[in-house]
Amino acid sequence: MDKIKKYKHIFFDLDHTLWDFDTNSRQTLNELFEKHSLKSNLKTEADNFVDTYLRINEEKWKLYRKGLINKERLRKERFYETFSEYGLRDESFSHQFEVEYIDLCPHKTALIPHSLEILNYLKDWYHLHIITNGFSEIQDIKLSKSGLKPYFDKIISSDEVGVNKPGAAIFIESLNSAGASRSESIMIGDNLGADIIGARNCGIDQIYFNPESLVHEEKISFEIRHLKELEIIL
Ligand SMILES: [Mg+2]
Repeated sequence: MDKIKKYKHIFFDLDHTLWDFDTNSRQTLNELFEKHSLKSNLKTEADNFVDTYLRINEEKWKLYRKGLINKERLRKERFYETFSEYGLRDESFSHQFEVEYIDLCPHKTALIPHSLEILNYLKDWYHLHIITNGFSEIQDIKLSKSGLKPYFDKIISSDEVGVNKPGAAIFIESLNSAGASRSESIMIGDNLGADIIGARNCGIDQIYFNPESLVHEEKISFEIRHLKELEIIL
């Protein structure tokens, strides 16, 4: 019972930790691929197009997390560069596609396995919160549509705080907002740099959700491959 007494506040990352970003994104891209007849326009298959987009999107997010590009640039460039790889350089179509993607994707509801099950278990014991590097208006739709929202007391988005994880300010703001002390808090997330090292630097314990068992040498509090394992730690 010691473990249960130690923490009072659990801070979750959202994308890739609870909300199944990859599945939801692929579903959306496949629908839009179909809608815009991209098979004939880009002369490629949907899977190939989706893989290209996910690669470019990840590159853009890395730059965004480092503060090297802003939200507008990320959104402007990711589809333009994806289409460019297939020889389609059309700013207006890329923009339209981006708008449709942003509109549609947050409404998708696939969750990481055992998300709801584990939240149902945790909610009776802890205050649950979200700290996300996403954009608040988008994250709010995801949380509502997927049924996650009722589980969380505080939802802190980086664009509201003005600082992304791993920046200390977003963790400090989250603790203040939740009325939580460092020692009674723990952060769970899939991103080693942003979620785990960010929390560690702030003096908050961490649980690294690492479903692919990515190799690293960081000293962290806990590491799990499945969300079900949280029942053992918490
Ligand atoms: Mg994440």
